[in-house]
Amino acid sequence: MLLENGGKKPLNIAVVGGGLVGSLEALYLARRGHNVTLFEYREDIRKTPQIRGRSINLALSVRGRRALKDVGLEDIMVKEHGIPMSARMIHRPDGSTYSIPYDARTNQSIYSIGRNYLNSILLKESENYKNVTRNFNHKLLETNLPNGELTFIKTDTKEKVSVKADLIIGADGAFSTVRRAMLKQPLFDFSQQYIEHGYLELCIPPSEDDTFQMPPNYLHIWPRGNFMMIALPNQDCSWTVTLFMPFVNFRSIDSESKLLEFFDKYFPDAVPLIGEKKLIEDYFNGSPSPLITVKCRPYHVSDKALIIGDASHAVVPFYGQGMNAGFEDCTILDQLFTKHSDNLADILPEFSNTRWKDAFAVCDLAMYNYIEMRDLVTRPSYRLRKAVDDMIFWFLPDLWVPLYNSVTFSTMPYSDCVNNRQWQNKVLAVSLLLFGILTFILFCFYRR
Ligand code: FAD
Repeated sequence: MLLENGGKKPLNIAVVGGGLVGSLEALYLARRGHNVTLFEYREDIRKTPQIRGRSINLALSVRGRRALKDVGLEDIMVKEHGIPMSARMIHRPDGSTYSIPYDARTNQSIYSIGRNYLNSILLKESENYKNVTRNFNHKLLETNLPNGELTFIKTDTKEKVSVKADLIIGADGAFSTVRRAMLKQPLFDFSQQYIEHGYLELCIPPSEDDTFQMPPNYLHIWPRGNFMMIALPNQDCSWTVTLFMPFVNFRSIDSESKLLEFFDKYFPDAVPLIGEKKLIEDYFNGSPSPLITVKCRPYHVSDKALIIGDASHAVVPFYGQGMNAGFEDCTILDQLFTKHSDNLADILPEFSNTRWKDAFAVCDLAMYNYIEMRDLVTRPSYRLRKAVDDMIFWFLPDLWVPLYNSVTFSTMPYSDCVNNRQWQNKVLAVSLLLFGILTFILFCFYRR
């Protein structure tokens, strides 16, 4: 068989974590002809029974779509499964709504997709490659990264398994064990931050005739200043609803009457959609989960180990970019494999040296977007700025790409998106100043 890596000897690569990013990375590497062994802590997600109306969904945008296209899965995810969301639907406290399009110029959408479904499709696709082996119920315990050594424990039999690989890819999420081993390396920078807000998932079920209870092609938001609720549509016509709020507020709602009082005050239109009984059940059966940001660098250890996805840059979920950024890691890595003819000693340092500023930028963008979603969207100043941005974008699409569009609908490096915004802010500030001065001069001139 002609190997896609130009006939070179295939590498033995261990991918730790069979979540979204690890299972996608396994596909990218398998397509290049390498021997990939995937190790996943949990059991095979395809064997886990799905509970109707309890699907967790994610917003897929251009960076994620590009990666899925590379591995031949864009159509099945986007066209066959994804539910397009072309605008934010804002719910006011009085229950009235209005929409804010994401991209008024070209009407692009983000897509709501089921997390488990996407993960299952990626794993299923890996079965089409003979050079991918999947090991579920394998928890990584210990590593010797410079030697490419890993020790797992099988969670079912408690047996220990040791492996040696040419390359270890840590895609084991925000609390990565591979990253923990990197902490011991000299010059490894690491910071993590929990925000004071947590999230709790609720659900709006389908209507009795199995249709959506709200218009489906929107990301619905109930912005309430210091907290907010959002809802994304699911294939089965239910909605995954997520309440983001400071932990102290979650703790203060400790009885059914307080919960109903709170919802009647802040989300009155959502109560009949969720149903009082279901709201009480879901709220008190769940507990709010924390949200963490992780920044670190470098992402590699010699030519033996690399971390990607949430393991290298966990972000809070407010820009809908965590998975998209992780998928983009895989695309960039693949481009570097091509550029350096699969030579790990060149690929890994270049990935670390070039990716960190975009990873740091997306972490900061995600933090900023929480304030935009829960508070700024309701302010006239936000809507005015968006109208100005959209108008200039309409006339000068190559010159003036608004921040949200550059992050969500382009593959512009995240750090350039931030720089772009800063440059646009300066232009608008100077224009406003000049306009003010001109108005003042004209005013003085006509008063004389
Ligand atoms: P994970 O999905 O965490 O997968 C890591 C895998 O590694 C898991 O399967 C885990 O079992 C396995 N693992 C962990 N430790 C070990 C070990 N020791 N040994 C073996 N295996 C191990 N992103 C978006 O792009 N759009 C969104 O709309 C969006 N919404 C979100 C909403 C919420 C509420 C949250 C919390 C996140 C959201 N994200 C979103 C972010 C997205 O979920 C993550 O960025 C994405 O899941 C990261 O994928 P990953 O594969 O790197 O990590």
